[in-house]
Amino acid sequence: MHLPFEQFPKLGAIKVCRHVFVQRIPGIDVSDDKPKVLKRLDAAHCEIRNATGFGGWPLFTAEQVHGSKIAALDSRFQSRFTRLSPSKRGEDEGEGSQQTDRGPTLILPLSLTKGEATQDVRLRAKDSEKAGILKKCQTEFPACDGIITNQRGIALGIYVADCCAVYIVDPKTPAMGLVHSGRKGTELGVVTNAIRKMTEGFGSDPANMIVQLSPCIRPPHYEVDFAAEIIRQCRALGVRHIHDSSTCTACDLHRYYSYRAEKGKTGRMLAVLGLDPLIANLVGKQPNQ
Ligand SMILES: [Zn+2]
Repeated sequence: MHLPFEQFPKLGAIKVCRHVFVQRIPGIDVSDDKPKVLKRLDAAHCEIRNATGFGGWPLFTAEQVHGSKIAALDSRFQSRFTRLSPSKRGEDEGEGSQQTDRGPTLILPLSLTKGEATQDVRLRAKDSEKAGILKKCQTEFPACDGIITNQRGIALGIYVADCCAVYIVDPKTPAMGLVHSGRKGTELGVVTNAIRKMTEGFGSDPANMIVQLSPCIRPPHYEVDFAAEIIRQCRALGVRHIHDSSTCTACDLHRYYSYRAEKGKTGRMLAVLGLDPLIANLVGKQPNQ
């Protein structure tokens, strides 16, 4: 099967990160509401994540409410989780048959009640809090439009159809952010907020950051050039390396979904970004060295 995705050369050149932008999936009926459509797209999205180096990585997504809040996933947050090896899965009574095999590790939430590590954003473990297991290895942060992290081996995901997915990578720290920024979010400064939080939380310097804008709707198909505004906002914070795909989603409905062009009955592209765990091994102590 042809896997419809694209990767951006400037992000691909960064050794510390992996990324992908999943395009329109042919042959899937997307003329339904968003939750149903995302469910139909999930298998293809998962297959493409597996094919691009994200197999077995937990996926963290945002509720995406066209606001400006950013969730932070840092080491304090990470310490709430323990990894469970595949051989131990069977010990969880009744869970084995329901789990989809998405990779070598599952993540167990130890505590989901306190939100201080996530900057006022509390974690919602989808359909899993009772069982204590993230069956689908996917966790959604409610009421936010972007996630930042300095943790490796974790995939951040943002769904878009006309709005821009903004990839932010600080290869030096390293740290990263992935943001959903459409017309409203851009007006509210959601990307600005993410860059500031990376600076405050992880010590990132905007001068070291590489920012990549995904395909999104643009004039003349849309009345506001919010991609240009995102670039202006990044420059104002001192970001020097900004790359725009310069692609309009409404111009190519064979490759992309467009909320505007398809009058709301459409699917979602999936942007994914993660920090490579191998880099951690190179920096840290190798057991067999
Ligand atoms: Zn267009």
